Amino acid sequence: MDLLLIGPPGVGKGTQAARLRQALGIPHLSTGDLLRRHVAEGTRLGAAAAAHMRRGDLVPDELVTEMALDRILGPSCAAGVVLDGFPRTPAQAEALDAALAGHGRRLTAVFHLTAPDRTLLRRLTGRRTCGDCGDSYHLDTKRPRTPGLCDHCGHRLVQRADDTAETAHARLAVHTRQTEPLLERYRPTGVLHEIDGRGDADDVTRRLLTALGRGAAGSSAFLAGGAGRL
Ligand SMILES: [Zn+2]
Repeated sequence: MDLLLIGPPGVGKGTQAARLRQALGIPHLSTGDLLRRHVAEGTRLGAAAAAHMRRGDLVPDELVTEMALDRILGPSCAAGVVLDGFPRTPAQAEALDAALAGHGRRLTAVFHLTAPDRTLLRRLTGRRTCGDCGDSYHLDTKRPRTPGLCDHCGHRLVQRADDTAETAHARLAVHTRQTEPLLERYRPTGVLHEIDGRGDADDVTRRLLTALGRGAAGSSAFLAGGAGRL
């Protein structure tokens, strides 16, 4: 079962990817982790990526594609994989589809997780970080015991530049521009599911599993039994 999650920043994609991994027993491929591991282990691809990063350049698409496909077609993903962050471009999607087809596989489902911009902006701009110990809070979901002060060290909480409204608007715009071609690619193939990302994480997981035909019994057992671990 090969799954792809697409969604804007703040929609909870990483959380849902981890839950799908646990519910379905297939790995979650994060390109960030993959890249860091290649660099740390000094592989051929890692060395090539490190050279770009030392110059302050982005790691080229093709290099990321090679790393991702190597993993997706490898033994750890033989039963399938949850993808998130790859493919990011039409060229990467084409390479992925061709590679899967070469192994008798295809994307089982592409989930487009969505929420209204105002919900996403609220989530993205609500984060507050301790200026001293770096502990992270959220105005809606993880409030400090004393407003504006860190629970651990008592220092003042600040809004980081990454979490301002201006940055959040820009991130959403970039996402929309990047994602549209991918949605256009997968919409006609019948594998694309539009999933409402609002509400609590359990509800969103239920919607995803239901779209996979794994609703009701299986998923509620997972959610009831697994809630504490999530
Ligand atoms: Zn602190």
